[in-house]
Amino acid sequence: MTQLPNSLEARDVAVQLHSYADARKQEETGSLVIDKGEGIYVTDINGKRYIEGMAGLWSVAVGFGEKRLVDAAARQMEKLPYYHTFTYKTHGPSIELAEKLIEMAPVPMSKVYFTNSGSEANDTALKLIWYRSNALGQPERKKVISRVRGYHGVTIASASLTGLPNNHRSFDLPLPQVLHTTSPHYRSQKKDGESEADFAKRCAQDLEDLILAEGPETIAAFFAEPVMGAGGVIVPPDGYWEAVQPVLEKYGILFVADEVICGFGRTGNMFGTETYNLQPDIMTLSKALSSSYQPISALLINDNVYQPIADESHKIGVLGHGYTGSGHPVAAAVALENLKIIEERDLVGNVRTMSPLFQKRLAGLAQNPLVVETRGIGLIGAAELHHEALADTPGALGARTNAVFLEKGLISRNMLDAMAFCPPLIITENQINEMFDIAEDSLQAAA
Ligand code: PLP
Repeated sequence: MTQLPNSLEARDVAVQLHSYADARKQEETGSLVIDKGEGIYVTDINGKRYIEGMAGLWSVAVGFGEKRLVDAAARQMEKLPYYHTFTYKTHGPSIELAEKLIEMAPVPMSKVYFTNSGSEANDTALKLIWYRSNALGQPERKKVISRVRGYHGVTIASASLTGLPNNHRSFDLPLPQVLHTTSPHYRSQKKDGESEADFAKRCAQDLEDLILAEGPETIAAFFAEPVMGAGGVIVPPDGYWEAVQPVLEKYGILFVADEVICGFGRTGNMFGTETYNLQPDIMTLSKALSSSYQPISALLINDNVYQPIADESHKIGVLGHGYTGSGHPVAAAVALENLKIIEERDLVGNVRTMSPLFQKRLAGLAQNPLVVETRGIGLIGAAELHHEALADTPGALGARTNAVFLEKGLISRNMLDAMAFCPPLIITENQINEMFDIAEDSLQAAA
């Protein structure tokens, strides 16, 4: 990328510190400046069009340029651009959205708590879990377990829950109360000769061993994505959830399903919880909740979680938690309209209709010798590249491939050497073919 003086690319790196980038490298290369979007495509300031193969950050479910969301935001802005939900006050959009989410929840949920990002939702979940343990007179029950390669965000608590080294390194994380158990990635974690079914059982056994080693009375909750996203799109092996959930039940451990990516259709059901028949006590939601047109996230909590928290807030006189933007009326109005679109256009149905082709084309990438594994479900997937074959450092081949994708007009995301595909849920057959044609050509060029 050439950086002309005073270009937006150069002005950007002069003033912004970017997430998930090598700052020194970006100072040299500049940034890709995206200008507009329509459907599954975005266009940069030089007029070059790309397929947004990641739906932004796994999030723009209804695609770019959706006028109904723009209108919903404008209407709410004019009527009441801001109000809060603190101390006995509220407003219509937050009430309606909370009602809608409780109605949509695949398991009985009692209350909704609004936050602004996936990280805040998981951070809040952990705080509420600690609060609940104290309410129940179990102050020792404060440890939580998540998984290696899980992704739950970047606040101090949610980055601790995240099981990826780069979210901990040099940040002095994770917090000591957060423990990580085995990643459910069969290919990299299996023992010699271990079948997938045996591996799934061992994951559950590893979890139970950790609980027993730490003392079951000290473990409050288990956090997990139904399908791991940012850790490399890890689809759990058959039998995994059937083996893991009874362990949680046996020790009375709360289950937090992080539905930030899986929620609202991605896996072929409205929630990953339905796809895997999960029984979470808390669900965290964001991203496709508003198709990321506005920052908003939410926790759904069941009665088992809510009742002790309500008692404790009564004892203290206040639940000392909340964000200025919690349940923001414009974000809530946009989310409501977005959920309407998802339902009216049956985007979950579109995921089911499109996923056989999507998964077939994804699996087809394995014909390239650079690809060691493809994995996916619904409209999410990844192709893992064989960096060992090139004696590369992990991530270098992924980054090079990503650059070729970009040059050829496809935005993907390399999680080290796993190339992710997670397009808007409105994608059509022709567009799926267009996306994977570019990916195939790019892999050939990168090989
Ligand atoms: N949880 C999951 C499963 C995610 O994928 C993400 C973001 O990618 C988060 C939480 C954090 O969300 P945010 O980036 O909005 O803080």
